[in-house]
Amino acid sequence: MKQRRPVVAANWKMYKTPQEGRAYVDELGIKGLDLEGVDIILCVPYTSLLLIGESLENGEVEVGAQNMHWAHDGAYTGEISPRMIKSSGAGWVILGHSERRHIFGEMDEEIVRKIRSALDHDLSPIICIGETLQERRNGETLSVLRRQLGPVMETLSHEDMDRAIVAYEPVWAIGTGVNATPAQVQEAHGNVRKLVAHRFPAVAGSQRIIYGGSVNPDNAGELMEVEGVDGFLVGGASLTVDSFIKIIRAVQACHKNGT
Ligand code: PEP
Repeated sequence: MKQRRPVVAANWKMYKTPQEGRAYVDELGIKGLDLEGVDIILCVPYTSLLLIGESLENGEVEVGAQNMHWAHDGAYTGEISPRMIKSSGAGWVILGHSERRHIFGEMDEEIVRKIRSALDHDLSPIICIGETLQERRNGETLSVLRRQLGPVMETLSHEDMDRAIVAYEPVWAIGTGVNATPAQVQEAHGNVRKLVAHRFPAVAGSQRIIYGGSVNPDNAGELMEVEGVDGFLVGGASLTVDSFIKIIRAVQACHKNGT
């Protein structure tokens, strides 16, 4: 089985102008970002994709977008196509983020289409899934994960799944300062891996499943130790270089053997 290489992805959300993004990347360089044993992806606003991609020209830190339209191009005023993202130098795109689902009303079906289209345009998706607090209280967490991930996987091949990352992000933990407990994370990641195994038995063991929801330098080490956690999607704590680097170091400090 292929070892699961940890990944730390930053979601800058709607923060940072291109100039501020550029200063961040310069600071990362100055502070000597160590990439040993970990993949880093910066998911930046559309307006920064090209500049940040050029600033990271050696390609060791990868760049991603945070959303996209599913169409190759067309009369969709205000939208951004996968072709545009790809040609800006990005290799990744976050899809199904809870802020897209819950603030902008994106539906499961639409997210499935976007994920299929991303892969067709040679973009690797970070597929976000996760339950609301009410759904957790109702005991519906597993059925929500199944509902969000099942139809996506039906449209994917083994190779597609292999290049995707699944991010388990409980909605109630995103941007709230309240992270899921290690036990909650372990249970959810185990269930996600079982869902993947059901459709793709050969891929499940090597599938990267990352956690997102109020990860910070203080909790990253403990959460990374949790069985089945292959890294993080980090929002707020990725916005300053110091806290992002501390999270990366916590991931590097954790030596797991494909658990
Ligand atoms: C996110 O935006 O995906 C996220 C997990 O945000 P935060 O780390 O701020 O909770």
